[in-house]
Amino acid sequence: MEPGVQVERRGSAGPEALPNPDHEVMDYSQRIARQVAAIPRSGIRDFFELVLGRDDVISLGVGEPDFATPWNIREAAIHSLEKGQTSYTSNLGLLSLRKLIGGYVKGFFDVEYDPASEVLVTVGVSEALDIALRALINPGDEVLYHEPCYVSYMPSVVMAHGVAVAVATHKRDGFSLKAEELGKAITPKSRVLLLNFPTNPTGAVASNEDLAGIAKLCIEHDLICITDEIYSELRYDDEKHVSIASLPGMRERTILLHGFSKAFAMTGFRLGYACAPSPLIEAMMKIHQYAMLCAPITSQAAAIEALERGAEPMQRMKESYHERRDFFVRRLNEMGIDCHLPGGAFYVFPDVRKFGLSSKDFAMGLLEAQSVAAVPGDAFGPSGQGFLRCCYATAFDQLQEAADRIEKYIATLG
Ligand code: PMP
Repeated sequence: MEPGVQVERRGSAGPEALPNPDHEVMDYSQRIARQVAAIPRSGIRDFFELVLGRDDVISLGVGEPDFATPWNIREAAIHSLEKGQTSYTSNLGLLSLRKLIGGYVKGFFDVEYDPASEVLVTVGVSEALDIALRALINPGDEVLYHEPCYVSYMPSVVMAHGVAVAVATHKRDGFSLKAEELGKAITPKSRVLLLNFPTNPTGAVASNEDLAGIAKLCIEHDLICITDEIYSELRYDDEKHVSIASLPGMRERTILLHGFSKAFAMTGFRLGYACAPSPLIEAMMKIHQYAMLCAPITSQAAAIEALERGAEPMQRMKESYHERRDFFVRRLNEMGIDCHLPGGAFYVFPDVRKFGLSSKDFAMGLLEAQSVAAVPGDAFGPSGQGFLRCCYATAFDQLQEAADRIEKYIATLG
């Protein structure tokens, strides 16, 4: 047993405690761990519970592709089941998949990882993020991230006993993170920087200059960078996507997270991965092997097919998102809602401040008056107040109808 690990063993096996049938008499509020009690429920889920069961509503809400997973990938999962592949895999994931991931990451991000020791297959980027934070943070360590951001970041940091430090980004910068603002937020307690480009919910991308400035700060302040690359294939500008992991001096201090949910339309398969130097992967693996054991083998079989033959369907989906982004941003601006053109992901983040309503009031009003559901921007942190997140991974005719209904709604706002 490692020093510092305490296990107490008391008494021999005695009679088992009987379950307490009187739930009512227990005060559960005192029994929930403080950091869990302290985090809020996701603002997205709260909002979408209102929409459940209403089939008149056009949802621009939950961030997932409207495409079913490409057929060849589904078929690979079916074949794997037919062959009776229903066992655990290595904790790290199937070696054949890890080798393909290594090749894909080298080709796409231009960073090389050893499939034997530097790649860990996880249950989505969600798990990868959780175990990366838990592997790195001691209580009180600060984790910086740019905001508005994915709803999981703050709670994941808090549940790992870290201190969440949000650095606000601004519309004037296309919601990219500026090194200058990041620099002001760093303290001696800062240990980790969490990045996500293209960004959920703003679609922001970082310029090479911004990334270089951020990398310089990571090196100067000895930060580990966790980069959530889940939308990196979904870029619509002509720039090649650059991961901070590929910048000089960054590979050694970066955990690159990626997965299959978005670009391959595989959210339900729950498959992601982490790439990092082996001591970091080894630490994450310890948590993964006890908490998760391994990612599901059926999903791993599907991911192999995605990497071997998924490029073409992915390209088709991407072209369709590109068209929808251009259409929706143009319509919003034409009707008088100020919306920047996001470089990636499948979200637009229009500015609704001029209507004089909070994000939530605007979104609730839109839902009630026109049955269009969009997420209030402040669900992604206070710096999203005054904005709305609309996911355009929705059928084109629905998007057109949603735009018409939004136009009718704002005409009533005077
Ligand atoms: N990161 C970001 C930025 C996301 O938007 C999401 C899903 N919405 C995730 C991670 C989680 O992805 P996964 O399905 O791979 O767990």
